[in-house]
Amino acid sequence: MKKLILLILLAFSCTGGYSQNKTRTYLADPELAPRDHNVEYSHLRLNVAFDPAKGLVKGKVMLTFTTLRPTTDSIWLDGIQMTVQKLTLNGKEVKHQVDSAGIWIYPGTNLEWQTKDSMEVTYECTPRKGIYFTGWNDSAIAPKDGESGFSRKEIWTQGEGTDNRYWIPMYDGFNNKLITEMIVTFDKDYKVLSNGTQISVKDNKDGTKTWHYTMTHPHDAYLIMLGIGNYAIDDRKTKSGLPVHLYYYPEWKDRVSPSYKYMTDMIDFYEKEIGVKYGWESYSQIPVQDFMYGAMENTTATIFGDFYMVDSRSFLDHNYIGVDAHELAHQWFGDMVTCRTSSSMWMHENFATYYSALFDKEVFGKDYFDWDRRGFQLSAIEANKKDQNPIASSMAGSIRLYPQGAFVLNMLKYVVGGRELYNKAIKYYLEKHKYENVEARDLLIAFEESTGMSLDWFWEEWYFKGGLPSYSVSYSEQNGTTQFTVTQTQELTDITGLSSADGRPVGLFKMPIWFEVHYSDGSVDKKQAWIEKQTEGVSIANPSGKKIDFVLFDPDNQVLKSGVSFHKPFEMLKAQAIKAENMLDRYDAVDAMKSVDLTTKRAALIDVYNKETFQAVKSAVVAQLLNDSNTISRTLIRSAITSPDVAVRKAVLLNTKLIASDLLPDYEKLLSDSSYDVIVSTLDLLNKSNPSKMPQYLATTKGVIGTLGRNVQMKWLELSAASTNDNQYLSKLVAYSGNSYEFRTRTNAMDALMRLDYFDTALLANLLNAVPSSNGRLAGPASEVLKYFYAQDKWKKTIADFVIAGKWQSWQKAAIRKIVN
Ligand SMILES: [Zn+2]
Repeated sequence: MKKLILLILLAFSCTGGYSQNKTRTYLADPELAPRDHNVEYSHLRLNVAFDPAKGLVKGKVMLTFTTLRPTTDSIWLDGIQMTVQKLTLNGKEVKHQVDSAGIWIYPGTNLEWQTKDSMEVTYECTPRKGIYFTGWNDSAIAPKDGESGFSRKEIWTQGEGTDNRYWIPMYDGFNNKLITEMIVTFDKDYKVLSNGTQISVKDNKDGTKTWHYTMTHPHDAYLIMLGIGNYAIDDRKTKSGLPVHLYYYPEWKDRVSPSYKYMTDMIDFYEKEIGVKYGWESYSQIPVQDFMYGAMENTTATIFGDFYMVDSRSFLDHNYIGVDAHELAHQWFGDMVTCRTSSSMWMHENFATYYSALFDKEVFGKDYFDWDRRGFQLSAIEANKKDQNPIASSMAGSIRLYPQGAFVLNMLKYVVGGRELYNKAIKYYLEKHKYENVEARDLLIAFEESTGMSLDWFWEEWYFKGGLPSYSVSYSEQNGTTQFTVTQTQELTDITGLSSADGRPVGLFKMPIWFEVHYSDGSVDKKQAWIEKQTEGVSIANPSGKKIDFVLFDPDNQVLKSGVSFHKPFEMLKAQAIKAENMLDRYDAVDAMKSVDLTTKRAALIDVYNKETFQAVKSAVVAQLLNDSNTISRTLIRSAITSPDVAVRKAVLLNTKLIASDLLPDYEKLLSDSSYDVIVSTLDLLNKSNPSKMPQYLATTKGVIGTLGRNVQMKWLELSAASTNDNQYLSKLVAYSGNSYEFRTRTNAMDALMRLDYFDTALLANLLNAVPSSNGRLAGPASEVLKYFYAQDKWKKTIADFVIAGKWQSWQKAAIRKIVN
């Protein structure tokens, strides 16, 4: 859509004119070089069975490889604490030596150069990582009200970063793609999923079946997966005919539709947007209990935390769409084209995060996408306060790998002039490197080869160096022109921005930035200019002296920056908040009104609220008017409390410290809200604001279980325990902290008991079971709760004695001893 009345466009070229290559500054990165390896593996076939209660893996792995050097007299396999029963090379047993990190194999003589060899390792292990056996030793106390909820019995894997070596002896590095096959024998009543195509399932007549899966294209070892449990499967097909298999717990059939919403649409969208077909024969997804991350993009078979399986009501509070789209994007960016070393991990995560946001845009619209971008920017600003490491580094940190990098990709699209050319370059890149390993320069070269643009400066300032620019902007009207002055105000260091060139100091950023002047007659003048010197002037002619309504620097916030200092008079903010085309410009105008007094801004904010369609801008108004006792502001807040947009209702609650008495009846209505999160926040607020009516509030919310970690039920039990002397609520909370339950229920219960300052040995047993967990989102909160009680003199001895009397594995003891000493 073009609304330009007059367009003044600078000749826009990406060549820029600097030669940066000579002075590029890298942060020393230990992971920059790919891993040394003397053989190249082409095929892995794993035969595996389990004793799940013991956490035992019984495997036989067959590896086919080619030597890369003429003198290869030893081969190394990664493998943590493996017991090797037999090891053969080309069918003959050979000398080998096992240590805690892997296996050395000695053929006796040099292997013949460049011929195919094969190796077979029969082994057992009881891994602490890589593969997880959940629910096979469920020992917690059952709650007394007859609820189910006893732990599911599952086996699942998480290979990334380098954990598959804990259960499969193999070369576990990025720089060796290979075909993998998985042959699993297990109890016939379970379902088994692995990578690739299921080529057979055999009944063994001993109560087991053998499932055989194989890949047809090579992938990386960290993407090998296995998922075993009690599932039903929803089979679908995309427009292009790709089979999609969606696993779910049979009793959660009602959650299939909201959880896997848009699943095939997503594949259709990516095939169209990326321009490269999905690279494998099928796509499957499997939810598992107690997953330590959100999800993992194993090739053809994503594993995700079952907390994302939601019903249509929980869908309001959290859903799987964003993560689903993120993992799916990895099938192209990460699985099909994979980084060579972890310093290029951004080439997976930047893309997955960005394409997930593009899917948001496709389904929910541009405002939603822009709000994603604002979230990306705010995260980047926070991360850059801590350090200024670059994105293209193994020390980038998760903010740069995910949100900051996603913002930068959108900025790359903006710099090359939009979607058309950006998409051309991405398609070229993926096709050039299909089923290969890459590093940062491969993407740069792909952009250069496919667009002809010299983008070295962009890689330098946004990928190879860190930091963010910040700008101070002012404008003035003189002699028929509007004159902007822009100064870069970030600290100038040699690890940020560009190197020095042509007398320009080091650390400055170079970007094309738009300037807009909006007049009160509705017309607009726009101009794009390269901002690269410390201070730059940009003028836009206004020969007829039209009255300016508002001006914009970098409209729609295309450029990543830590901040803009741009003082605008209130009348201009008001016009911008109501009339700016892009949501972020409207939002920023409302945000800038925070420092304006209520009498001046009240009417304008109410006008904004009534005209605005996007929740973030409405919520920003709510935050500023919430404590205003003026009647018209009160009317607005009442309307916000009953807003059809759940985000606006949540904004009211988030910004309320104590409920004003005249608004009590309005807030009370939220106890029967459709959103479970709203109910939890409302219960908390009412408890603080009007405790005398708690029995009535609890009666209203009795029996509501809620979403994620039974959030309403746990809050209800906590408040019931606090407001009565009845012990039944406490003992229920203790039961829910046990290992019959998924980790979010457990941590909600533990946190509630800590707030209630209630301790007993049953809780202690549950805490000690959770503290050593490989799931950090269980172990972390459990450790905090244990520390809280251990710091109290009255419990210290009980806890210490309990630990001494307990029977612990060494790894359990090590984790517990960090707290109880
Ligand atoms: Zn990812």
